[in-house]
Amino acid sequence: MSLSLKWSIQRITTKFEFKIARSAESYYDVVILELSDGEFTGLGEAAPSKRYEKGPEAILKMLSAKNNQILKISIDDAESRQEQLENMFPQSYSLQAALDTAFWDLYGQRQGTPLWKIFGATQELVTSSYTIGISDLSIIPEKIKEAAPYPILKIKLGTDYDHDIMRAIRAETDKVLRVDVNEGWKTVDQAKRGTEWLAEENVEFLEQPMPSNQLDDIAELREFSPLPLVADENSVRPEDLPGLVGAYDGINIKLMKCGGLTNAQRMVELSLKHNFDIMMGCMVETSIGISAMSQLGSFARWLDLDGNVLLAEDPFSGVGNEAGEIILLDKPGLGVEKR
Ligand SMILES: [Mg+2]
Repeated sequence: MSLSLKWSIQRITTKFEFKIARSAESYYDVVILELSDGEFTGLGEAAPSKRYEKGPEAILKMLSAKNNQILKISIDDAESRQEQLENMFPQSYSLQAALDTAFWDLYGQRQGTPLWKIFGATQELVTSSYTIGISDLSIIPEKIKEAAPYPILKIKLGTDYDHDIMRAIRAETDKVLRVDVNEGWKTVDQAKRGTEWLAEENVEFLEQPMPSNQLDDIAELREFSPLPLVADENSVRPEDLPGLVGAYDGINIKLMKCGGLTNAQRMVELSLKHNFDIMMGCMVETSIGISAMSQLGSFARWLDLDGNVLLAEDPFSGVGNEAGEIILLDKPGLGVEKR
């Protein structure tokens, strides 16, 4: 049976404006893929990050240009597929991820098996965090209230009023907090002071404190830091990992950076080899992307898979999220359906 591929742009709106150190958005345009063999349809999602690549319009152009080549890709050979996707779309990691995911979903459905089983993972996942983006101090109480069901919060910092943000949050809650600076601290001194005062605030770890091109500074910070450091903007692709030894304690794997589930599995293997703690995260995504990453979730020490629950409305349903507990279904492939 020959394959066919459909694509469309879907606008997804967040409950709150989603602000981090370098950007603020209240909606995102993602590209949804439907890969059909006539009997089953595999779903994929590209949520392109401006930090790494161009937007959805550029992705549609790439899809139109390469549609015929895409349809010749083997459904059963993930290794060669990844290589072909990297050659076809070297500038778009999220498109690689969307296609890889759609092929995996189709493969799993044809096998009648959930992907987590195919990947040798389990349904036992740690509790995911819920993200609190940067906002005016006056809105923080409302946001902490909104996050009431979630026991672990991930706080976005990297502003010139980080102390005020943390004080405002700690006035509302004594939950375990994780902090993501998104490259927002520019000097080692600033970062050292940051790790010191965060360690006094019951913070579990610190994600990407400084710009990814300041790796020597980050290694110096790690010698000093009382908190574990986790790479995100520094840990994009599998080949990045060997270079992070000594600078980081853990790495954050995201499908939209690494190019899909095939490369994510490689990053898991490399993390075990280099002794990195594994975190799995996401962009603001629908339940397609979140359900895909969750298939490997049992390999992670820390999960930050809340992209779909930050949405005002999710056009898809897949894994559940009950107060941060990700519920993996026993359904073939990704187990995702249109709402
Ligand atoms: Mg991050």
